[in-house]
Amino acid sequence: MEMEEKVLFPGKAWGSDVSSGDFLILPGYIDFTSDQVDLTSALTKKITLKTPLVSSPMDTVTEANMAIAMALMGGIGIIHHNCTPEFQAKQVRRVKKYEQGFITDPVVMSPRDRVRDVFEAKARHGFCGIPITDTGTLGGKLVGIISSRDIDFLTQEEHNLPLAEVMTRREDLVVAPAGVTLKEANEILQRSKKGKLPIVNEDAQLVAIIARTDLKKNRDYPLASKDSKKQLLCGAAIGTHEDDKYRLDLLVQAGVDAVVLDSSQGNSVFQIRMIKHVKEKYPDLQVIGGNVVTAAQAKNLIDAGVDALRVGMGSGSICITQEAAPKIPPDFSSLSPKLPTTILGSFMLAVGRPQATAVYKVAEYARRFAVPVIADGGIQTVGHIAKALALGASTVMMGSLLAATSEAPGEYFFADGLRLKKYRGMGSVDAMDKHLGSQSRYFSESDKIKVAQGVSGAVQDKGSIQKFLPYLIAGIQHGCQDIGAKSLTQLRAMMYSGELKFEKRTLCAQLEGGVHGLHSYEKRLF
Ligand code: GDP
Ligand code: GDP
Ligand code: GDP
Ligand code: 5GP
Repeated sequence: MEMEEKVLFPGKAWGSDVSSGDFLILPGYIDFTSDQVDLTSALTKKITLKTPLVSSPMDTVTEANMAIAMALMGGIGIIHHNCTPEFQAKQVRRVKKYEQGFITDPVVMSPRDRVRDVFEAKARHGFCGIPITDTGTLGGKLVGIISSRDIDFLTQEEHNLPLAEVMTRREDLVVAPAGVTLKEANEILQRSKKGKLPIVNEDAQLVAIIARTDLKKNRDYPLASKDSKKQLLCGAAIGTHEDDKYRLDLLVQAGVDAVVLDSSQGNSVFQIRMIKHVKEKYPDLQVIGGNVVTAAQAKNLIDAGVDALRVGMGSGSICITQEAAPKIPPDFSSLSPKLPTTILGSFMLAVGRPQATAVYKVAEYARRFAVPVIADGGIQTVGHIAKALALGASTVMMGSLLAATSEAPGEYFFADGLRLKKYRGMGSVDAMDKHLGSQSRYFSESDKIKVAQGVSGAVQDKGSIQKFLPYLIAGIQHGCQDIGAKSLTQLRAMMYSGELKFEKRTLCAQLEGGVHGLHSYEKRLF
């Protein structure tokens, strides 16, 4: 491997596999400002993100709120599957409906519906700007529009009124003809100064609406990850069991853009079968396979048709796969002595690979097939993100770093004077006890005993993703600037050409690199 020697990573000279803390990247030449650094990178063969950040499918990390925030800032969230398929599909639908261009399936009412129906719609969907047609459905003749301002101050008795009596009537409405471009429609909407613009065809039938709030969202989030309909991108995780096919169908109906096949060791006959199933039934859906840490594992999944690979085994912050169950469980002695030895054997999993080497090896192989790699697990700082990207990953997936933000599921609580949120491994006994998706990742049906591969804990409050992600983005841009790479594409090209130099860090060097010699200090990152 000539290239390995040239880039000094993870060349034979290093003697062993390395993790992120074992090395540094040498600085290069700067002739641009950090905000010029372009972080555009591929998530999958067909999906490109402006920010290379992905939130992990864990039940203490990604549900709709996290996925919306991630997508608004140019990344993507993967909705976890430790829940019913219906709940998961609903989360996906919330993300897809959050922002739109033309809303081609708007909630519509009839003039005979009551004011209280609008309040109900507001409670269910979160909006109440509703066009009114004679039939009460899309495709009916537009007869008016109702918005919060029409009903806010009505008394309880007036909630029984039919909408015909409170709506703004068709003759007063500003509308646009079917066939206008989104740009033209946006201009009409801006000029009208109204909240919604109904789009009608020649027969005066309603075909779509657009919302003013979406123009604002588009202006406020220039990096947002969107599909061709201007809906936010959303991913979701599924398992590789037979009943996951039903889950897949619901997710596709909800509009999911990419599915992650969530296995801790992805090189399996089950995953390969599922990849083939998805590709046959939904050829346009992007499939992310994994997890893998070797080129040999990657080969099987690439051959089966994956659009991206998730790399990492045993490097997650909550993960005990490499060390396996640290203690024999207390009830072990009561188990039957006739237990199959395979189960006993699995108490010592001892499987995995240091993450830096795993990312480099898999990415170096997968790029020959144009399959992007997601570095998953072990990301504790901006520096880890920069290193993962410099080693060939196209994006990074984070759990603990995004847990305990206000967008993560769960409530804050106080302990030891700190504001915390729960964060748990999907292979922890705690998560597996829910008997839903996470079981299938870490515990196969045929297993008689659960082997925990993760722990359950808490993480300190980080505030909102809206502030935290811009810090991460600016940090990655600074890292690239120091290296002398103006884009992530250039960063990877520099690594593969040997221009980028990695240097091994001794233990003393690692101590020198941390804060030292101070009596006390405060660490504020942003
Ligand atoms: P860009 O926004 O100029 O980078 O180009 P796009 O292709 O994203 O957008 C084309 C047109 O659609 C522009 O007029 C945008 O302002 C508008 N647009 C983009 N996203 C949205 C959206 O979510 N809702 C609405 N109503 N318009 C959008
Ligand atoms: P409203 O004034 O209460 O209708 O709410 P806003 O216009 O402030 O926000 C509505 C948001 O919901 C926009 O981002 C829309 O893209 C989104 N949305 C998704 N589906 C629909 C729908 O069927 N009707 C409406 N009114 N908005 C929708
Ligand atoms: P917001 O989203 O709650 O701010 O509400 P809108 O701007 O959509 O609507 C404010 C008021 O204007 C409500 O009484 C609507 O019924 C009415 N309205 C909405 N669209 C139009 C329109 O095109 N023309 C006129 N004259 N009134 C409208
Ligand atoms: P973190 O960002 O917290 O270091 O790692 C998150 C990643 O750890 C997840 O994306 C997932 O791949 C992995 N992970 C999540 N739960 C568990 C678990 O219980 N055990 C193991 N081995 N890995 C886990």
